[in-house]
Parts: sequence; structure tokens; C-alpha cells
Amino acid sequence: MIRAAEIEQLLRDYTQPLLRAAGLAQQNIQVVIINDRAFNAFVMDGRRIFVNAGALTDSTTPNQIIGVLAHESGHIAGGHLSRLREQLAVAQTQSIIAMLLGLGAMVAAGRSGQNVGDPSVAILGPQETIRRSLLSYQRSQEEQADRSGVRFLAATGQSPKGMYETFKRFVDQSLFAARGADPYMQSHPMPSERVAALETLAKASPLWEKHDSPELQLRHDLARAKLAGFLDRGDTVARRYPFSDSGLPARYARAIATYRHADLRAAVAQIDALIQVQPNNPYFHELKGQALLEGGKPAEAIAPLRRAVQLAPVPALIQVLLAQALNASNDPKAADEAVSLLRAALAREPEVPEGYAQLAMAYGRKGDLAQADLASAQAAFTRGDVKTARELAARAKTRFAVGSPGWVKADDIVGYKPPSGLGAGRPN
Ligand SMILES: [Zn+2]
Repeated sequence: MIRAAEIEQLLRDYTQPLLRAAGLAQQNIQVVIINDRAFNAFVMDGRRIFVNAGALTDSTTPNQIIGVLAHESGHIAGGHLSRLREQLAVAQTQSIIAMLLGLGAMVAAGRSGQNVGDPSVAILGPQETIRRSLLSYQRSQEEQADRSGVRFLAATGQSPKGMYETFKRFVDQSLFAARGADPYMQSHPMPSERVAALETLAKASPLWEKHDSPELQLRHDLARAKLAGFLDRGDTVARRYPFSDSGLPARYARAIATYRHADLRAAVAQIDALIQVQPNNPYFHELKGQALLEGGKPAEAIAPLRRAVQLAPVPALIQVLLAQALNASNDPKAADEAVSLLRAALAREPEVPEGYAQLAMAYGRKGDLAQADLASAQAAFTRGDVKTARELAARAKTRFAVGSPGWVKADDIVGYKPPSGLGAGRPN
């Protein structure tokens, strides 16, 4: 997973209008970014849309990725079985059959009379029959998601062109690439008839030629540059964003690459130049603070991070960074501010282990050992280290008054039982 306030905000701005158009605004669906450069976007459980970093970097316009998100919203709105689609994506026919065995047995029993004398069934066998009906079921879901997606785009005043471009690109690629090259291709079979139907539907839209606003295109390009700067090797960044490119995204990618390769002063100068161009871009200030913090200058990181927190629409992840800078500085009064920042951040983002780790440190500096132990237990818990979490929570319980809110929270962790069985709601 990748946590970055800038990219999460961009994807929220892409998805929220679509989800409203789909009647899904109340479901509080989260977008989760996966650190994977292959193109993929998928819905797991009707609560989360997963988007690979590669889907963003491969989309040259906002409209292209928005089209994919519109299609995925169509799957959620249609209530399409995510487990089935996931299994089909890895083409494990045997396991699908095993999964549907109960259902399949019922269907077979109910229809056994019809199959007598049907030579195709006799020759193909029940597994092949089931496989074929699954594939046609899947195809009808894909076509339905296409139609819903185009409708959501129309309702939000956006062109269906990007959706068509992305799906057309997959068809073109599949002519050359070996099957299985791209996960999105596997889970979204794109026979040419489907793309032809989509083309007819999309070109009928009066918004076909409507373009993304220049502001949105710039945010999109900055997000792609950020992913490249953080995820790619230095020489790859230099090749994709050469010095001859003086655009803001290229300068952003180079500044990130410079700070990651430990030339702090050069990086700060490059980031300051970016801030001059867009003084109210929260994420330029965030980057400056992050570079200074990781470069061992926490006291200098505080001012830019404060500015970023002020400017960002959803500052939770930046509040954690600011608290980290406050904890690392030698200001004894900083612990109170760190605690209140982290309380706010964790109320919005309760699954950030670093937030609890910093909270433990801030309470430790204040001498509140009960809260420090509880926060350490929560940090271990959100990291998935239940054993350590239980030990720390048991120690926290001895420091709190019995029945107090902190004691109750610690007691919940001590008594926590991991869910047994398959799945447990985790993506795989
Ligand atoms: Zn699909």
C-alpha cells in the first residue's frame, strides 16, 4: 500500500462525483493505492476500490483513469460478485468449480432432465459447461459495468473517451503480449465486440470531445511525477523527466529523486523553487518538511509541515509527519501539540501504525506512561503484531484505573481474538 495525502486526495476527487452519480455516496467507499506498477484497478468488497500505482502512471489524462473508476463503480452499483471476479481473474477454473460446488450440485440436480440427450454437454463434461456459463456471466457483467460507467460519466459532465481509450489500449496490447501479462486484462476480458459496443456507446455522448481542465491535468501529472520520484530508480527518473523538461511535474519528480538520494540542500533549493510557482500547494510544503525531517533536520521541518497541514483539505497523514518533527525536536512544549495533532489524525485515519508510534513517544515525553503503553499497543496492533500488542496492552492496564476509558481500550486489545478461517477481509 502507498499512503500519500496528495494522491489519495486526487483519487477521492476523481471517485466521489462518480459514486454520487451511482447512488453510492452514503457507502463511504475508500480508494486504496497499491504499490504495484502493473495496470490494475478492482473492487474487493463494495467498501474499497483498489488502484495500482501503475494505473495512475499509465493514464496520460485524468479522464482515462476516471473512466476505469467509472467502470469499477458500475461493478459496485451492479452488486457483482467480487469473489467470483477475483477467482476468474486468476483463471483457476478448478477452484471456481470447487467454490460453486454446492450451488453447482443444486443446479445439476434441478436440470438433470434437460441434459439428457444433449451431446455437447456429454462431450464437454460438466466442468467445461460451468466454465462456459461463468464466462458468459462475466461478459454480461463487464458490458453492464461499461454501460453504467458511461452513464455515470454523462451524469458528472465527463467524456467517456478516456474509458474507451484505456480499454482499446488493452485490446491492442493483447494482440502482442502473452496472455496474462496484465492483471486488469485478465479480470476484464475485452473481446473486440465488447470494445466495439463501448465505442458506439461512448461516441454517441455529446461530451465525447470534452477535455479535463488544465488544473486537473496538472494535478494528475504532479501525482504521476510524485509516484515516479518515490518509486523509480534515480536513473529512471532522469530518463523520464530529463533536465530539458522544465515543466512543474518534471521538476517535482527530480526534486523528490534528489532528496531520496540524500542531497538535502540541493533538494530543498529545488522544492523552494516549486513553492515559488505554487505557494499554496500543500504538497510542496509537505515534501520540504519530509525532506528536512528525514534528512535529520526536524526543527526546520516544523514550519513547512505546519503550512502543509493548514493548506491540505485532508491533512491527517501530514499531521503525523508534523508530530514526528515535533517529537524529534528538543522543544519540551512540543509534546502537547504532538498529542493533539495525532489525536485528530488518528480519528480520521485509525489504521496508521506510525501515528500510534508517535503518540506513544509524545506521551512518553509528557511522562504519561499509561497512555504511552496503550499507544504502543495500538501501534503493534495496527501493524498486525497481535502478540506484542497484547503484552503492551496488559502492561497498560496495570497503569490505568480499572474501568477508565484507557483501561477499556487496553482490555479490548488483551481480549482480541484474530478472526479464523479464510479471507478475513484482507486483500490478496
Ligand atoms: Zn470490469
